[in-house]
Amino acid sequence: MSKLNLFGLDRAAMREQFAAWDEKPFRADQVMQWIYGRGVDDFAAMTNLAKNLRAKLVELAEVRIPELIAEQCSEDGTRKWVLRLAGGNAVETVYIPEKDRGTLCISSQVGCALDCSFCSTGKQGLNRNMTTAEIISQVWFANRSIGVASQEAKGSTNKAKRAITNVVFMGMGEPLANFNEVLPAIRILLDDYGYGMSKRRVTVSTSGLVPFMDRLHEAVDVALAVSLHAPTDALRDELVPINRKYPIADLMDACDRYIHGKPNRAHVLYEYVMLDGVNDSPAEARALARLLGQRQAKVNLIPFNPFPGTDYKRSPAQRIVAFRDILNKHGVIATVRRTRGDDIDAACGQLVGRVQNRQRQRLGDIAVRTESARPASLRPGV
Ligand code: SAH
Ligand code: SF4
Repeated sequence: MSKLNLFGLDRAAMREQFAAWDEKPFRADQVMQWIYGRGVDDFAAMTNLAKNLRAKLVELAEVRIPELIAEQCSEDGTRKWVLRLAGGNAVETVYIPEKDRGTLCISSQVGCALDCSFCSTGKQGLNRNMTTAEIISQVWFANRSIGVASQEAKGSTNKAKRAITNVVFMGMGEPLANFNEVLPAIRILLDDYGYGMSKRRVTVSTSGLVPFMDRLHEAVDVALAVSLHAPTDALRDELVPINRKYPIADLMDACDRYIHGKPNRAHVLYEYVMLDGVNDSPAEARALARLLGQRQAKVNLIPFNPFPGTDYKRSPAQRIVAFRDILNKHGVIATVRRTRGDDIDAACGQLVGRVQNRQRQRLGDIAVRTESARPASLRPGV
């Protein structure tokens, strides 16, 4: 009989499983705390569980975590991990330490079907959705590698100072195109028995899958980032093809719904990649200010990160600053994202992993692929 994998179950699923074993809900909570909070994958080491429960878990279940195949460290402290996934695929995760926080940038799909013209992940097409276990394992490995999980195991609580203070779904893939697997991962991040993160410190970044923005809003409360990249439909159609299905007016309505009823401080973060001579003129900055001026918005300007085969160039620094200043002058808070991890290809849009058997979806199919990940045949050697 194959053992049941408990890794990747959120609280509801874990409790349901424990109920099926005639075990009390708080036992499920304890096991969650061991696995996620303390990074322990061995039931025998879960010392606050009764001996007979530990023995039962060893017999019936396992904590099966995908394999880590590489870790790289940049000169600036940025780290990148490569995870091996079924089907000969690999995905990448990046940790960006800063003075007052540590941000983990995680992947949600092997590749991406949405084909944004300036994105190297998009250029690879989609292989498959990642499972919740695969998504959350990125946090598990990063925590373990940074060494915090082991300190916690020595007795401090979930509130202990953490190296990972923020998690952003800005790695490979479009998280809202994999909603059913991403949602339990978000729940584990927020759960006190999971990673206990505050909802403002978990950010889902989307290229604008409008129906799933509403579903996210209904299901869970996390920060939202939207990859806008252009102030007009004509230009956005070209850069972010999903715009042809969900144009800017619909996207803005969805953004407004997302923060409706939330405290005044709440805002949507709009990402805007700075492409030389494409979307970076003063007129475009003013159009963007008009679009966002009356909204609870912040703008993050991302200097384009080149990759092999692209014709785009990064806007010169001066033009980026001028663009930012126009936004600020019109009352729209705008910042420029610092490029990190250049030397290990860990900057935004440079994550490629290894995507096998890729496919590109027709626009009509996009946003409805919510079935669980389907592992292809196992291939050795990534
Ligand atoms: N699919 C999601 C999240 C992953 S991409 C989304 O599109 O929002 C995270 C951010 O990096 C997005 O804003 C994306 O547009 C941006 N990005 C993609 N390729 C880039 C590149 N080559 N240089 C700079 N930013 C890029
Ligand atoms: Fe996919 Fe985001 Fe890249 Fe667009 S920018 S192709 S949505 S990962």
